[in-house]
Amino acid sequence: MDSQCDSCKLTFVVDLQEKNHGKGIRESFFTCTHCQTKFFAFITDDYIRQHQNKLKKIYKKGTVNHIDDFNRIIDDIKRKIETRMTELRGKYSDSPPTPEIIN
Ligand SMILES: [Zn+2]
Repeated sequence: MDSQCDSCKLTFVVDLQEKNHGKGIRESFFTCTHCQTKFFAFITDDYIRQHQNKLKKIYKKGTVNHIDDFNRIIDDIKRKIETRMTELRGKYSDSPPTPEIIN
């Protein structure tokens, strides 16, 4: 997975690293190998990981019979994860947004 650095505009290979913020909060980020600029990838806590597991289970088992219910439940869980991640990011992360992934 390559990415173009927003700062120096050079291409580098993404190597995810993890930072522990305590209380189960873990931030994943990567660093430009040319200029060392840090980029935010994602951040999770217990709440987010619980919901991610729920999603995995639904996808795997297909426990919801009706397709409309299926989509509605998936959307609902995804929205919860996104909201929480935005909140955590604002609180804990000092990294700039993720640059565009090239491939
Ligand atoms: Zn760079």
